[in-house]
Amino acid sequence: MALKGLDIFKLTPKTNCKECGSPTCMAFAMKVAQGAVDITKCPHMSDDALATLSEATAPPMKTIKAGTGDAEYTLGGETVLFRHEKTYVSKSRYAVSVSCCEENMDAKLEAAKTVDYDRIGERMHVEMLYLDYCGGCTPEGYAEFVKKAAESGKTLVLNCTNVDVAKAALDVCKDSKPILDGADASNYEAMSKLATEAGVVLGVRGADIIV
Ligand code: SF4
Repeated sequence: MALKGLDIFKLTPKTNCKECGSPTCMAFAMKVAQGAVDITKCPHMSDDALATLSEATAPPMKTIKAGTGDAEYTLGGETVLFRHEKTYVSKSRYAVSVSCCEENMDAKLEAAKTVDYDRIGERMHVEMLYLDYCGGCTPEGYAEFVKKAAESGKTLVLNCTNVDVAKAALDVCKDSKPILDGADASNYEAMSKLATEAGVVLGVRGADIIV
């Protein structure tokens, strides 16, 4: 549970030495409570206080990594759900959704490679592909689609709740560290085992990413 500024203040040395950059220990505690400053900026915290505060101020959202090389992205680790509440710690990524049975699937995958431009000094390009399983394709059919998408070099997110289909897809792309977005109440044990064996992150419907 998040600590309030006053709770954090009680754990500070209360010497107002200003070494943390704040004029008082109280001001520092308020900033820590807002997530604006890390608790380690105070060099005089006791180990016990640090242990208590590190646990209490840890982000409720787990930080994950997906993709490899230049396409490796860090996601999550946030203390808020909406960007207007506070600047996100990890940058939001741009993904395009494509379905394995989409009529213009090939054209869409090709188009995703061409979106690449500069916007006020920031490179804007498709960073991830969200690959929908239609529910009707065979495991081999979906795996073939995933293999084709993987050739783009973009980070993949497999939107698939069918364990057999997900396994076939991971067999062809697990080395690129995709996200397997496919666990729900009916399949989470099998999906968790699959994701652990493949060494990839597992997305859970209606909950945080947990593996
Ligand atoms: S460095 Fe620590 S003791 Fe000094 S003012 Fe900041 S919080 Fe207080």
